[in-house]
Amino acid sequence: MHLIDSHAHLTSESVWPHVDDVVKRAQEASVSPIINICTDLLTLERGMDLVERYPFIYNTASTTPHDVAKEGESVFPIVRQHALSGKLVAIGETGLDYHYMHSPRDVQQDFLRRYLHLALESHLPVVIHCRDAFADLFEILDREYVVQGKHQQGVLHCFTGTTQEAEDVLKRGWYVSISGIATFKKSEQLREVVRLAPLEQLLIETDTPYLAPHSRRGQPNEPAYLVETAQLVATVKGVSLQTVAQATAANAAKLFHLKVSHESH
Ligand SMILES: [Zn+2]
Repeated sequence: MHLIDSHAHLTSESVWPHVDDVVKRAQEASVSPIINICTDLLTLERGMDLVERYPFIYNTASTTPHDVAKEGESVFPIVRQHALSGKLVAIGETGLDYHYMHSPRDVQQDFLRRYLHLALESHLPVVIHCRDAFADLFEILDREYVVQGKHQQGVLHCFTGTTQEAEDVLKRGWYVSISGIATFKKSEQLREVVRLAPLEQLLIETDTPYLAPHSRRGQPNEPAYLVETAQLVATVKGVSLQTVAQATAANAAKLFHLKVSHESH
C-alpha cells in the first residue's frame, strides 16, 4: 500500500533545512510520490534540485493568491518557462483568497486568469486555492478554463468549503483534496463533504508544513503523517484504508500524469 501526498511545501523555509529526513520518513511511511508545491523563485529552484535527487517527487509552481501583488509579475515568466519545458506536473497553487486578502481582488483574479491560460497552453492541470471566494472562482473558471464546452482538469486543494460548494466543484469534474483539517473535532462539515464526494474525485494531502492532523496538532506537518487523513476518509466512507489509498493514488496519478509503474511497493 502506498499513499500519494498531493500537496506539500517541501521546499519552504522551515522544511528545506531537513528535507532529506522528511523525505526519508515519508518513504518509511509509504508516502510516495509527493507533489511539491513551489510558490516563488527560491522554492522553485530548490524544487528542481529536489527532483534530481528523488524521482518520486514532482513539482508544481505559481505565485499564491496571497503574494501576487508583491511578486506575481516577476515570477510568472519563470513559471511559464518551466511549464512549457515540461518541468512541472501542474500549475498552482493559484486561485482566490478573500479571507486574508493579502493582495487586492482584481490582482488575484488577473493572475488566476493568466495561470489558467498557462495551464491550457502547457496542457497541465491546475492546483487551486480558494477561500471565501467560490462565486468569483466558478465565474472565472467557467469562462476561462473550458475547452469545447468541457471543464479542464484541476483540484481544489485543502478544501474547506460548504457541501454546496463541494457539489459545484464535483459537478465540473474537478477533484477535491482533503487535508488534515478533516481529522479535527470541529470539522463536521468537511467530513460531510468527504461522505458525499465520490471516491473517484478525492485526493489527500498534508499541505506540509501546515495543518498537521489531530494527533500531531501544533507540530510541523510532514508527508509521513498523511495516513491519519487517509484513515479518516476510510472511516467516514465506510471502506478500507487500502481502498482509499488505491483510489486516491490512482486519482492523483491520473490528474498529474505521473509515471507510477515503479511505485507499486
Ligand atoms: Zn499549499
